[in-house]
Amino acid sequence: MQKYTYDVAIVGGGMVGSALACALAESDLKVALVEPHAPSVFDPETPCGLRVSAISYASENILKALGVWEGIISRRACPYRRMLVWEKGQSVETNFSSSSLGLPHLGHIVENAIVQLVLHERMSTLDQVTMYCPAKSETVDFMAQKITLNTGESFSAKLIVAADGAHSRLREMAGIPLTQRTYNQHALVATVETALPQQDITWQCYAPTGPQAFLPLPGHQGSLVWYASPAQVQTYHQMPELKLKDEIQGTFPERLGEITGIFSKGRFPLIRRHAQTYVRPGFVLLGDAAHTIHPQIGQGVNMGFLDMAALAETILQAHAQGEDFSRARVLKRFERWRRWDNTLMIGITDQLYSIFRSQSRLAQSIRNTSFALADRTPPLNKLFASFAVGKMPHLPRVTRKL
Ligand SMILES: Cc1cc2nc3c(=O)[nH]c(=O)nc-3n(C[C@H](O)[C@H](O)[C@H](O)COP(=O)(O)OP(=O)(O)OC[C@H]3O[C@@H](n4cnc5c(N)ncnc54)[C@H](O)[C@@H]3O)c2cc1C
Repeated sequence: MQKYTYDVAIVGGGMVGSALACALAESDLKVALVEPHAPSVFDPETPCGLRVSAISYASENILKALGVWEGIISRRACPYRRMLVWEKGQSVETNFSSSSLGLPHLGHIVENAIVQLVLHERMSTLDQVTMYCPAKSETVDFMAQKITLNTGESFSAKLIVAADGAHSRLREMAGIPLTQRTYNQHALVATVETALPQQDITWQCYAPTGPQAFLPLPGHQGSLVWYASPAQVQTYHQMPELKLKDEIQGTFPERLGEITGIFSKGRFPLIRRHAQTYVRPGFVLLGDAAHTIHPQIGQGVNMGFLDMAALAETILQAHAQGEDFSRARVLKRFERWRRWDNTLMIGITDQLYSIFRSQSRLAQSIRNTSFALADRTPPLNKLFASFAVGKMPHLPRVTRKL
């Protein structure tokens, strides 16, 4: 039998890859993790970072099970209990609330860098995990299951997991094709300072140019995500701060209060990608390496965490039963478990993109009726709220407190 240096090697120590390393460490498996960038030390005095995510209740349960949730919220996070959605220029609003589900909140807005930092801190305490950080995987020999790093080191692993993000080099090296769609929209993201302290609510306005979202951050801060045509986003991005502040001010409702400053801003192209297979013998794609979606419903990393929990459960169960977890037939169980849910989420996001772009009377009347129904029909309202917190059938074991 072939001898490997590690049982599992994870390439990419972002939020999803790092979470997998922590999850596998509850067994006797030897795990390696490769990541080029060590997360920065947290400084509570600096403004919130640009990249933030709405972490669902389901993901919170996963992070609790990994023993990192306290470390995250003790650094910086903002819970939200309500979501307000409306169409620009229309009077109908839809409110979603955690109280309809009997939950304390719907989720938290958290800086990606904090989630990654706390997971890296946790990994560094786990004997079964060897971290190669900073280091980058340069080449992979799939016959020998061998990874060579830019540091000159190399090692082999029974299972290689590509968690190296949307532009996954490993996916490319493995020759796994993508189904993809480039949206005619980019996102302008900005961390802003606000006159009013943040409330426990996320705001999402559907404008003809694209959705405009405002997410609460701790204290007098907020995260703005503004979707518009690539040219418009470029214009906003290049605007002097005072002018951009006025643009933002004029776009969001007055009750949000004054925007007093812009700490940071960035822009992102939006591409939906879905790998045509997640697995090969001895190889798995995870998180953004397997799929990226339009971020308007804030589900990308939540899907990644659910994939991670399902993969960890599949591997640990097979290992406990003496099965070779790197075999395609075991890995296919993970793919069958997650592909349908991911396809559904991608489909819903695509439909929302199309319905809200159309200015036809029919589309407008569908939108108005849907907003009114979702607001005034309690079972429907509860269904959408459940969806937002990540409550779905066949969830991995660690999320089942929902
Ligand atoms: C504007 C915007 C807003 C978003 N908002 C939300 C939201 O509210 N909620 C939500 O759930 N999702 C959101 N997302 C999606 C979310 O950010 C991603 O799904 C998530 O970051 C993916 O995590 P990941 O760990 O899979 O990949 P990444 O975060 O991309 O991590 C990949 C890691 O791999 C490393 N890497 C790359 N190449 C190599 C290599 N050769 N060797 C070793 N390591 C390598 C990288 O350094 C990186 O750390 C948003 C996305 C965008 C663009």
